[in-house]
Amino acid sequence: MTKIGILALQGAVREHVKQVEACGAEAKVIKRVEDIAGLDGLILPGGESTTMRRLIDRYELMEPLRAFAASGKPIFGTCAGLILMAKTVEGYDAPHLGLMDVTVARNSFGRQIHSFETELAVKGIDNPVDAVFIRAPHITAAGPTVEVLAEYDGRIVMVRDGQFMGCSFHPELTEDISLTRCFIDLVRSCVQVQS
Ligand code: GLN
Repeated sequence: MTKIGILALQGAVREHVKQVEACGAEAKVIKRVEDIAGLDGLILPGGESTTMRRLIDRYELMEPLRAFAASGKPIFGTCAGLILMAKTVEGYDAPHLGLMDVTVARNSFGRQIHSFETELAVKGIDNPVDAVFIRAPHITAAGPTVEVLAEYDGRIVMVRDGQFMGCSFHPELTEDISLTRCFIDLVRSCVQVQS
């Protein structure tokens, strides 16, 4: 069975687990370096990117996560997870994981009280996708390898760059599993190529 890890240092972990299982894949909660072995794909959940970065450093996960990415395995970052994956974070000198050729701006849609839910048209998905924005970032620049999958209010909010996917919002906080399914399809296609 396709095995999807969910980085569980902080944030909405249980909801991702539920969605992965609803898609017929195995979900594994990742807290330490040794948990990463054997995964086919990885989800980096939302939360607070600065806190998650501190915990990544504390648990010495930075290099193992980069190695996982370099091995060709797919990663899906949602909200703070997207910030962790961006090559450039506005206002910061250095990226976190730096995997996707995008620039992100943090907290682009206002504060916690301005959180909102909307329906988004996402490239490759037939029905509109439910999306929850909570202190969400947006993508201000995307390199030539990046495919824009969704925009909201003229801003890029979902992209794919090779085996990496990222979105500004929380797909896991709704009943709509279509984005998780889309990621798992990507993981399965990569597993086929590699085997
Ligand atoms: N604003 C948060 C950050 O900068 C992200 C918010 C979220 O993940 N919901 O990390």
